[in-house]
Amino acid sequence: MSSTFDAKKALIVHAHPESASFCASQMRAARDELVRQGYEVDVIDLYENKLDPVLDRGEFEHVEEPFKPQKEQLKAVKEGTLDPRIREDIDRVLAADLLVFSFPLWWFSVPAVLKGWVDRVFVMGAVFGGDYGILDEAALAGKRAVALTTTGGPEAMYSEDGAFAPIESFLFHVNEGIFRFVGYEPLKPVVTYGPAHLDDGQRENALGAVRSEFETIDERPRA
Ligand SMILES: Cc1cc2nc3c(=O)[nH]c(=O)nc-3n(C[C@H](O)[C@H](O)[C@H](O)COP(=O)(O)OP(=O)(O)OC[C@H]3O[C@@H](n4cnc5c(N)ncnc54)[C@H](O)[C@@H]3O)c2cc1C
Repeated sequence: MSSTFDAKKALIVHAHPESASFCASQMRAARDELVRQGYEVDVIDLYENKLDPVLDRGEFEHVEEPFKPQKEQLKAVKEGTLDPRIREDIDRVLAADLLVFSFPLWWFSVPAVLKGWVDRVFVMGAVFGGDYGILDEAALAGKRAVALTTTGGPEAMYSEDGAFAPIESFLFHVNEGIFRFVGYEPLKPVVTYGPAHLDDGQRENALGAVRSEFETIDERPRA
């Protein structure tokens, strides 16, 4: 008798240049916990796959002048002429019920390689716009997404009374500007503050905390 059970699918898009970093260890802890929770997990390691993160005219066929990136994206989706590497990543995004962005906080934002991946892969006509709309009409509506990050600064600095604002305010553009725009429900970010300033025991505990957050990912509140 064949089973009709479909595993939940997660896609982790990871953006740290060092595989021995805490950020990469944290990504692996999250990945392993998602597997334990019954997810089929796909990982795109942006420093390994070396996709050029710069959106430019070179990736499109027969560009109309003046170059309008989203117009070319729409046309390439319609005509089936998207760069095959972009099409492949779009299909991996569309296949996942849960998207995880794994990255160190750089300039209070995502590293350029991740921002560039979004520029190139969250294509107009494929994940929003065209036959889709935005927000609840976008292609990823009904799915969830979460930021998994590390900082240099300690947690106290990322508070109302700290030197910086709470981390949620810096991640607003990820949660609402990227995830929500293309339909995802953005989940409360998972953050390890200042892993470089922790001792080995504290780092072990921090990885345990990340595993706990992903153990209950299906009940995680909205960002
Ligand atoms: C361009 C740039 C901009 C930046 N902007 C900001 C900013 O705006 N705000 C901010 O707060 N910070 C900023 N930073 C700092 C950055 O966010 C932190 O350095 C980074 O998030 C720390 O995570 P990491 O994984 O890189 O740490 P790592 O230095 O790789 O790791 C910390 C320690 O953990 C160890 N480790 C790795 N794996 C394990 C394991 N499994 N168990 C135990 N220990 C382990 C490592 O060996 C290392 O000793 C910036 C850094 C750069 C390069």
